[in-house]
Amino acid sequence: MKILKKNKLYIVPTPIGNLKDITYRAINILKKIDIILAENIKHTKILINHFKIKKTILKFNNDYEHNKVKKIIKLIKTGKNVALLSSAGTPTINDPGYKLIHACHLSNIKIIPLPGPCAAITALSASGMSFNKFCYEGFLPKKKKSKETLLKSLKKEKKIIIFYESKHRIIKSLKTIIKIFGENRNILLAKEMTKIWEIIHKTTTINLLYLFENKKIKKKGEIVLVIDGYKEKKDDISDKIIKTFKILKDTISIKKAIEITAKIHKIKKNKLYNFIIKKY
Ligand code: SAM
Repeated sequence: MKILKKNKLYIVPTPIGNLKDITYRAINILKKIDIILAENIKHTKILINHFKIKKTILKFNNDYEHNKVKKIIKLIKTGKNVALLSSAGTPTINDPGYKLIHACHLSNIKIIPLPGPCAAITALSASGMSFNKFCYEGFLPKKKKSKETLLKSLKKEKKIIIFYESKHRIIKSLKTIIKIFGENRNILLAKEMTKIWEIIHKTTTINLLYLFENKKIKKKGEIVLVIDGYKEKKDDISDKIIKTFKILKDTISIKKAIEITAKIHKIKKNKLYNFIIKKY
């Protein structure tokens, strides 16, 4: 495979609030490239003016403008070095760019991603939650039903879960999170990170709702939620075991169904019995 050496697409993360969080390398790259692709021209102008950088800026805020992607590929192929920037944070992380990057891969254009600010990773680093795995879920769905469906699918996820959320939906979303994950799941609120009004607060789901509902924490601002993974309780009976029990109980007595289920899954009959009594 022949990678074009001269012409590159740089992926340049930018600060999520505090301009000092830009890296030296990002500034140097922005100085030497030819064109900046900006999600928001106004935001990018403020940033580059601050660092006394003057560049041609083109708007790029939509992955689905195929003609624009084609034009950019052509620009790079004809010798221009281009940098992709979001309004804040890492491009393509809930921001546009993936289609353009895919098109660059297809055209053998060298892609150079720079490390840098990202709200999800910054919040995760402050979580103090002990598991070296996480899932990034982006924004919670707006609609109640889709939100519930997603949260139900994540209820027993052992990895730490990261969500972006808007100030308009935070209270409703916390209520749904409590309904599905329970009142006592550990949660980290990371609000307005790197800004003057930054709040990093780790608590339980129910207490976080209390703090918002009682205006102890103002809703205004940008929010990341980091939710601790599911911790198996000692008396937990897996969904697989319950499924076996449910199939059996439709054809034989509950007592017999418990006995056979326990045998199949090699668990204590009494443990299953106590669980079934509580639940059904
Ligand atoms: N690409 C960005 C990144 O790397 O984090 C994310 C872009 S997404 C459109 C914007 C969302 O990121 C906000 O609604 C908020 O949930 C989160 N976010 C961005 N900056 C933040 C900050 N300073 N503090 C807390 N959350 C932030």
